[in-house]
Amino acid sequence: MPTTPESASQAGLTRRRFIEVTGASLAGCCLASGCRPGAPLAEVSAEALSLHRESLVLDLHIDSLLWTRLTGYDLAAGHQNRLPFQPFGYHMDLPRALEGGLDGAVMGLVINPREIRDELMLPLKLLARWEGERGIAQVSASLDLLRQSAERHPDRLLFARSGSEAKRGIAEGRFVALAGIEGGHAIEGDLSKLITAYEQGARMLGLVHFQTSAAGHPMTVPAFEGRGLTRFGFELIAELERLGMVVDLAHLNSAGVADALGKLKRPFVVSHSGCQAICPHARNLTDEQLRAIADAGGIVGIAFGRSFVGGAGGVADLLDHVEHALEVAGSDSIALGSDYDGFIVPVGQMGDVRSYPLITQGLLERGVPVPVIQKILGENALRVLTEVCG
Ligand SMILES: [Zn+2]
Repeated sequence: MPTTPESASQAGLTRRRFIEVTGASLAGCCLASGCRPGAPLAEVSAEALSLHRESLVLDLHIDSLLWTRLTGYDLAAGHQNRLPFQPFGYHMDLPRALEGGLDGAVMGLVINPREIRDELMLPLKLLARWEGERGIAQVSASLDLLRQSAERHPDRLLFARSGSEAKRGIAEGRFVALAGIEGGHAIEGDLSKLITAYEQGARMLGLVHFQTSAAGHPMTVPAFEGRGLTRFGFELIAELERLGMVVDLAHLNSAGVADALGKLKRPFVVSHSGCQAICPHARNLTDEQLRAIADAGGIVGIAFGRSFVGGAGGVADLLDHVEHALEVAGSDSIALGSDYDGFIVPVGQMGDVRSYPLITQGLLERGVPVPVIQKILGENALRVLTEVCG
């Protein structure tokens, strides 16, 4: 982190002003700069590119607002992550989304917990200590950042509150951003705070992130194995469905997923995950879970991070996950959930949002029928958003 918040207040700056004046330039020096890199699309065929351009492409999980909050990252400006393997962030902005044919995304809101528990990952512990805002106040602040970006660029960015609004925005040529909260800790065990977040535009909520919430337990901590949803977790699912918010089961442990599948009545998502059969990462799903999720009306967004994908860490390995999930769960249940800007190291060639056409090309080469490719690229995601949020 650049320097302490105290030094900012000594200088009479607010924290947000502080990151605007220092964060952007510091991150600019160490992480990213410039704006017109060599795109990885030279090898994409004209056929694949034209299919990609005419398809709806909607990603279920992109965390760029974390960088907006931390460094003043401007969604509307062009950036490039120049570090080897393009790790952590600076993966998505509107100019590059346009280049990669990405029409929209559910923007993940990474929220500092009020109570920091032992199991929380160290970088998130540090983040929570460094940043002042926590819980629902940080949800509101993050939603504000998205609203302000959309107001500054009304012709290019739409903060959408429903699937039908997203569809309209895409038809108008705007990037559509929906907001999804990452982790039930953000609403602090209080359903009235969920309503506050809904009123401010949030349309998805993950029951847990990296630490136990009032709703359930993360899958990344073996000690929580077998512990399902809490009573509040069941109430939360019912309230999300009543409001017209999408339930996200990413990060939830398997006992929690099983409980949720028995409770859910509406379509839902596992926004960013992968297949255990291809890579045995704790955040990936077993074949049994993939089938159960499909049977219950859920969709799985396949994540692009190397640790999720495994293998040699190339685009072919990522496509193996898509193909396997397709075989096991069927074509109505698979989507994209890159996790760009979510502190991941993307698989080779998929370094930022300009890379989506490589997926279209790869699926075509593997003989996946065009209508199925289009479901995966965005139609399944839009269907669920529309069925749940209107
Ligand atoms: Zn995540």
